[in-house]
Amino acid sequence: MTATARRKKHRMARKTKSSKPAACQACQGTNLVRRITTYPVHLAGELEGKQIHVGRVALYECQRCGHLMPTPAGQAKVDRNVHMGIRLFLGQLH
Ligand SMILES: [Zn+2]
Repeated sequence: MTATARRKKHRMARKTKSSKPAACQACQGTNLVRRITTYPVHLAGELEGKQIHVGRVALYECQRCGHLMPTPAGQAKVDRNVHMGIRLFLGQLH
């Protein structure tokens, strides 16, 4: 139906003022609280088993299961820190 296509287009074009996720990615819970806290990142590949803790990341915490979802700004910080951490682990900073 064309109505469905119109709705989909409308949703994609809509500008979201808040970056707050609608629901938890893990349990679909909607009780999310904004926090600034340490975000642990588990590495994969050749650094499997290693973990990087990124301090003071802006994120949303699910009050139901504790799942952490960084905001876009928080995610950018996580990406930068993980990149640095991986270089550190691989000994590329020496
Ligand atoms: Zn959850």
